[in-house]
Order: sequence, then structure tokens, then C-alpha cells
Amino acid sequence: MRYSLIADSYEKIEATTKRLEMTDYLVELLKKTPKDIIDKVVYLTQGKLYPDFFGIEIGVAEKLAVRAVAKATGHSEKEIEENLEKTGDLGTTAQIFLERKAQVTLFQEPLTVERVYENLDKMAKATGPRSMEHKINLLAGLLTNATPKEARYVARTVTGSLRLGIADMTVLDALAIAFGGGKETREILERAYNISSDLGSVAKIVAEKGIKGIERFEVSLGEPIRPMLAERLGSPIEILEKLGGKCIAEYKYDGERVQAHKREGHVTLFSRRLEDISDQYPDGSELIRKHVKAKEAIIEAEVVAIDPDTGEMRAFQELMHRRRKYGVKKAIKEYPVSLFMFDALYVDGKDLTLEPYPVRRQHLEKIIEQADHVKVAEYIITGDPEELERFFEKAVENGCEGLVCKSVNEDSVYQAGARGWLWIKYKRDYKSEMTDTVDLVVVGAFHGRGKRAGSYGALLLAAYNPEEDVFKTVTKCGTGFTDEDLEKLPKNMEKHRIPHRHSRVYSTIEADVWFEPVVVIETIGAEITLSPIHTCAMDVIRKGSGLAIRFPRFTGNYRLDKSAEDATTVKEIVEMYRKQLKKVAG
Ligand code: ATP
Repeated sequence: MRYSLIADSYEKIEATTKRLEMTDYLVELLKKTPKDIIDKVVYLTQGKLYPDFFGIEIGVAEKLAVRAVAKATGHSEKEIEENLEKTGDLGTTAQIFLERKAQVTLFQEPLTVERVYENLDKMAKATGPRSMEHKINLLAGLLTNATPKEARYVARTVTGSLRLGIADMTVLDALAIAFGGGKETREILERAYNISSDLGSVAKIVAEKGIKGIERFEVSLGEPIRPMLAERLGSPIEILEKLGGKCIAEYKYDGERVQAHKREGHVTLFSRRLEDISDQYPDGSELIRKHVKAKEAIIEAEVVAIDPDTGEMRAFQELMHRRRKYGVKKAIKEYPVSLFMFDALYVDGKDLTLEPYPVRRQHLEKIIEQADHVKVAEYIITGDPEELERFFEKAVENGCEGLVCKSVNEDSVYQAGARGWLWIKYKRDYKSEMTDTVDLVVVGAFHGRGKRAGSYGALLLAAYNPEEDVFKTVTKCGTGFTDEDLEKLPKNMEKHRIPHRHSRVYSTIEADVWFEPVVVIETIGAEITLSPIHTCAMDVIRKGSGLAIRFPRFTGNYRLDKSAEDATTVKEIVEMYRKQLKKVAG
């Protein structure tokens, strides 16, 4: 196929801002394209060579492209650069210089799409010390045989500045019209795209086999499914109403979404944007290999940073330490992760995307062998707004962002690539940041594990309520202790140890070890949140809820100068909570 056909279409597309016209030009082009290279033409129109998840980009530096234009036209790099400065577009510059040259060219071999694609592909994949020269030669080779108009688009394609504005949906429209029998078949094509993320392959199938071929399209291992997204509502009542009176409410973990594709012993992890991020989380892949008891599966999970000493969830920012190419091994140690699974889209040959969520969840629970770092998302099934609210508070207090409430109806399929009302997120619309430290009383402790075996994993801390002369729990703190602290804590606390909860301590949490309220430590947290578990300020802000300190950290200060009755009071915590409420966007 002649590349000039593509260049002519690009020129027309570039000249219009109307989507319908753009679609018509695309239909024209697709109809002229031989079926066996239609995938390549589709990728090229979007300035690509492969679907995004392949991670192969043409991306040639402008400087290098300038050298190729110079070589192909016999002008100096300086001349090209000067002109480029004026036009601001290497495509236009290449065209200008080729127009000058055209007058002296007597014989030209016409450029074909196949050759353009092949050379661009070689350029994208070239590596090694001589790759620069190689790339310049490949590009100059194309430009030598290009017409000026063709050169404009080749130059733009290689430098990543084609920008025709052809959106995925426009391509799908064009495919529906050209091969599907009409625009109304777009939906069928769209589903195929949403479950494969590969427009080229959808184009090829519909061109070769028609819409019947597309209807049989199923998810396939290795091709990422475009993620289903959630709508958002501000109250449990609205959420339940929208979901038909009942839902599965799950913790909304605050980490990074991954879609894991497991084939026998091999696991690929895709990000929310469908990039292959397996290299970033070799530990995540290993967990999937070990704990997903299916030969083949596509499952979705949230990767969350975990405190290695306490096993508790860390804030989202901590996970950012894992966004790296180098030093991955060290980062795995310092910032270990857990996986919280929340969907199963394919299991052992069966495409589950059209099954209702309760069925998908059953499959998920069946194939996941839960362990320390692998869990199925915490959930309740409820139709009660009060219960939903409590569960929400519990989620926030445990380090989550809120809840994702999911439809349990017959039609609760996996809506790939769509933000719909089958999933509704419930996040806080306020945030209370903690800027001050608080002095809290150690009233209990929990046994440590792993590196902390023999010491405490976390301490149960309480604020003082002078009116009742009692201590009310407000947080569980396991962070900020040095090795020395950890070694000494059990010894130092031994003299305060009692066999049961102290009568002046109010707690709904069962600690492993209880203390008389004597020792005071200084702590700071990320924020104060409502809590259905902690007794501090119970019923003060909202009925059935107390206040808790989220992500608490020991500052290193034992307040030996303070008695338990000098600790921060419940009232002070209520004031801090009220003062620090801030609206958050998003
Ligand atoms: P946000 O910034 O709120 O995460 P988003 O646009 O990335 O927004 P949404 O679809 O609006 O995504 O919210 C759902 C996101 O929440 C998912 O992309 C996923 O990363 C995360 N998540 C955490 N826990 C769950 C869960 N149990 N079920 C579904 N998604 C979950």
C-alpha cells in the first residue's frame, strides 16, 4: 500500500475540526487499506506502532531527526535547525527541504506503508552503541524516497508530534461504518476494545471476519482489560438507593491498582494506565504466583505499602518509593507491599467479565489462598445506611480512603473502560490534618511478629477524660519505635502489667496485654478521623462513633514528666478535630 494514501488522508483530517468529517476520511482510508496491514495503519494514525501496553514507543529525539533530514536532503544540519526555529515543526521543515530537492530528483521509488512501518519499527527497537547511526540511516532512507508531503508526516510520526487528534472512539466509529455494517455496531466493537486494549487487533478482526468475529471476542491473557471505574456519591442513603437497596461495600484501599495476568508460573502486572509494571513489583508477582490457585487468571488488586514491623497499612505516599527502575531490591525490603484482591475477570479459560459481581467475587475467593500479604478486599453486604457508615469509618481508620460500594444485581457485569454506577465510591469530603503532637497513655499492647517477635507490635493508647476520670482509647501505635525502644519496652512496662483491662480504661478493642494507665508517650498522627471502634469522644461528633488518630507515630519522647492525668484530654482531641477540618477536592 502506498504511503501517499495515508499522507493524503492525514492532510484532510488535519484540515478539519469536525469529528464526523474526520470519521469519514478515516473510513475512506480504512476501506482502501489491505486487510492484512489494517492493524498497522490504525496504529500509525494514532502515532503508534503497537498498542500502548507493549511499551514500545517510536520516540526519536528531534536532534537525531534533524540529522536524518540533513542527510536525506543534502543540506547542513545548521540550515535545517535554522528553518526549524522558524517553523517550530520538523514536519514542515522536512517538507520544505524536500520540495527544494524534488526538482533535482529524477527517479524515486514510491514509499509503501509496509516499508515505513518496518523502518519505524526497527528504529524503535534499535539498541546498543551504534543504534544512533542506525536510526539516522533508517529515517534518512525513508525521507530520501518520500514526497514532500509524505516527509511531513514521517517526520512528525517519528518525533511523536503527529497529533491528528484521532481519538480511540473515532477509530471505533470508523471501523463500525467501514466493516461492521453501520455506526450502531460501535458498541460491540467498543467492548472488544475495552477487553483487549488493542485497536489494531479489533480492526483486523472486524475487517477480516466482520462483526460476527467481534461478537465472539473474549478476554485473553496478556492483553490488559481497560479498568472499570467508579462514580461517586456523598452519603450511604444515596448510595443504597442508587444500587437498589443493597450492595457489597468494600474497603477502598489507598494504593496502586494492578491487573495481574497469571499464566502458569508467569505473571504480568499492568497499571491503571495499562503499562506493564511487573519490574516495579517483583514481590507482587511472586505473591500472585504463590497464592492464586488457578493455572490461568486475570485478577485485579490494590497494591498497598505495609509497615514491615506492624503489618499495618501505610499512607499512599509511602508507596511512591516503589516507583523506581533501580534499587528495586532495597525498596522491596524497606517498603514491602500487600495485595488486596477485588475482582476476577478470567479464570482457567473462562471469561468472567459478563458475570455479575457476586459470581466474580465467588471465583475470586475460591482461587485466592489468603496469607499475610495477600487478602481479598474486606467487605460487608448491607442495605443499612448506618451499618455502611460505620464500615466506612472503620475503613478510614484502618488506613483506607473509604469504600467502594458495588452492585449485586444481575446486571452487575465488569464494565471495562467505563465509569458507571455499578461501582460507587464513598470518600470523605473533609480532612483533618494533625499538626500538633499529643501525649497519650499506654493502656495495652499487642504482640509483635517477625522482627518484633518477643516485643510489642503496637501499643494501645488512650486520652484522658477528667470529667469521668477515665481513659479512652484513641489509636494503636506501632511506628516510630527504635530497636532499643522495642527491646526495652516489655521490660519497662512489666511492672505496670495487669491481667485484664484496667477499670478506668474504656476500650472495645481486646489488647493482648493490659497495663495500668501510668506511662505517657508523645505521638503525632496524619489526621483525626471518626471511628466506630475507639471510645475517645464516643457519640460526641456523631452517634455511634468516636475519634481516632490515623497513621500514628511515636515521636521518641517518653513523657516521664507527665502523669496519666496530665495526658491530652478527650476534649482537646475533639477541639483539634473540629479546628482542622478542611474540605478536600476530588
Ligand atoms: P481515585 O483517585 O478515587 O482512586 P480513580 O479514578 O483512580 O479514582 P475510581 O474508579 O474512581 O478510580 O475509584 C476506584 C479506584 O479505587 C480503583 O481504580 C482502585 O485503584 C481503587 N480501589 C481500592 N480498593 C478497591 C476495591 N475494593 N474495589 C475497587 N477499586 C478499589
